[in-house]
Amino acid sequence: MKIDHIGIATNGIEDAATFYRDSLGLDVAEIEEVANQKVRVAMLPIGESRIELLEPVSEDSPISKFLAKRGPGIHHIAMRVEDIRASLDDLKQRGARLIDEEPRVGAGGCLVAFIHPSSTGGVLLELVERRED
Ligand code: ZN
Repeated sequence: MKIDHIGIATNGIEDAATFYRDSLGLDVAEIEEVANQKVRVAMLPIGESRIELLEPVSEDSPISKFLAKRGPGIHHIAMRVEDIRASLDDLKQRGARLIDEEPRVGAGGCLVAFIHPSSTGGVLLELVERRED
């Protein structure tokens, strides 16, 4: 298992990316809109992992709610798994509280599913199965 990325909620990904690009020298690999999560996403590779900057595209986006409640900051940690359905089945059997029982398509065409913070020590956890590599 690896940390696939760390998701950071921002009010604007271009503004936030300026720090990571100009001050830390990271590149913005891609920016895309993930319609089913109502966010725009910028991915910045760092080693074998990535920083994922998130910006809401509507007021009912989960990121809008997060920003209103807690302000910008770390929103979730994503772990890469080989077989996301098998991981979800396993976690469910062990009593974990799943937000997504079924994976959905996330940024970069990956399959993703979220695990509730009540099962993970207070951190929203995302599972990611990459399909391209
Ligand atoms: Zn993510």
